[in-house]
Amino acid sequence: MTETCRGRCLCKAVSFEIDLPIFACVNCHCESCRRQCSAPMTTYIGIPDGHWRWTGKEPKVFHSSPGVERTFCDNCGTPISFRSQAMSGMMHLYLAALDDPEKFQPTLHVSHEEKLRWYEIGDDLPTHKGPDYTTK
Ligand SMILES: [Zn+2]
Ligand SMILES: [Zn+2]
Repeated sequence: MTETCRGRCLCKAVSFEIDLPIFACVNCHCESCRRQCSAPMTTYIGIPDGHWRWTGKEPKVFHSSPGVERTFCDNCGTPISFRSQAMSGMMHLYLAALDDPEKFQPTLHVSHEEKLRWYEIGDDLPTHKGPDYTTK
């Protein structure tokens, strides 16, 4: 049987389930993620379509730029996911929405060039220019 893990928004209306293994776990420093999460950076996991599903109410979709969809709970406001046509077939769910956010560990910093100057990275993970970690 496939191992799964679950996540949800703060009010529990929106929930999801993913099948393991995940494709990636990265820290993102891009301005759009920062603004959506209202946080200096965020961490998300990448899961191929077909390996995740909504199990509660579906979140509301906001198109933050052409080809980019960001979702959030329209009741409590929790940011849930983003997806981009540039990384088609891949869903990205914010790690902190998982029931067990320590299940995965980031392996890369993406959009590193947008990092806030005062934010000092305290790890030795590689950095990537731009959001698309699926390319080198
Ligand atoms: Zn909610
Ligand atoms: Zn980002």
